[in-house]
Amino acid sequence: MHIESDLKLDFSDVLIRPKRSTLRSRAEVDITRTFRFRHPGSEWTGFPLIASNMDTIGTTRMARALVQFNAMAALHKHYSADTLVEFFANEDSRNTFYTMGNTDADLEKFTYVKSKAHLTKLNIDVANGYTENFLENVARIRAASPDAILMAGSIVTAEMAEALILAGADIVRVGIGSGSVCTTRDLTGVGYPQLSAVIECADAAHGLKGHVCSDGGCTAPGDIAKAFGGGADFVMIGGMLAGHRECGGEIRYETRDGEDVPVAMQFYGMSSDTAMKKHYGGVAEYRASEGRTVDVPYKGCVSETMQEITGGLRSMMTYIGAVRLKEVPKRTTFVITSSQRDKLFNK
Ligand code: 5GP
Repeated sequence: MHIESDLKLDFSDVLIRPKRSTLRSRAEVDITRTFRFRHPGSEWTGFPLIASNMDTIGTTRMARALVQFNAMAALHKHYSADTLVEFFANEDSRNTFYTMGNTDADLEKFTYVKSKAHLTKLNIDVANGYTENFLENVARIRAASPDAILMAGSIVTAEMAEALILAGADIVRVGIGSGSVCTTRDLTGVGYPQLSAVIECADAAHGLKGHVCSDGGCTAPGDIAKAFGGGADFVMIGGMLAGHRECGGEIRYETRDGEDVPVAMQFYGMSSDTAMKKHYGGVAEYRASEGRTVDVPYKGCVSETMQEITGGLRSMMTYIGAVRLKEVPKRTTFVITSSQRDKLFNK
């Protein structure tokens, strides 16, 4: 047994210190980035926020809405092959990742869709990115798709970020147990404070010309700002996009003054009972549900939430004097909040 006693931080443990700046307005800042990817050598420019591949969030409607902001989406993996072929034939799919798991059926479906559509962005999504089998699959998919931008995860430690990049990933997804409807930490005791995971994995990945995507744990635009400040190249969000018109799932209505008004939507983890029943007919006997099901208030069109996110980020950049998103980590100083310091140092 080993105890790691270094300080490890979550988004809520810190604030970003303001810095003197010559910027006069948030309109002067640029929230897009241009990346050159390690394996294909290709470039992508845009706002590096990704809608999570949860079946309520990573929908084709969400992808079409986010591309208006030059942001990205990872489609969920439960669409039929034909729906995916049709979607990826469209120009609106340019910022969208095709998502697959680690099973033979996932590989078979991928091979079929790839034979019919040009897939430029791939996302290999497993709950536990620490298995040899996963690394082998990343290498196999890289070999089969040398020109694609390949994202893979999830992991939370530097050595695994390096292993994934060397196996063929361009972007490593960082986050275990950090999701808003995830119960992995409660059920298994496994996890890693998200901000520290991002800082440590980004350092390792950048040394190899790879990139990282902070996945999970953002509850407000300020958390997205902190993830970029910690060195995340991309930020993936689920819960912050839940409850919108572009989401999958039923809208719950209430009758008010004789009118049916939308009030809530269901949102659930992809390992929750709800998702397992929907896609696999139930939770397999050898595993337990690692996700929650919640009702979230109905929020209407996602464009308002996106305005709030981009507005928050622009404002944070003016506070720290970063003209471009790329400069944000260099200009970020995190301050541990005093309430957290008391807790962390047991005062
Ligand atoms: P959020 O932005 O809601 O905090 O986190 C979204 C992330 O939570 C997803 O991108 C995914 O990595 C993770 N996630 C989604 N569903 C589940 C689940 O059922 N169990 C676990 N452990 N993680 C989940």
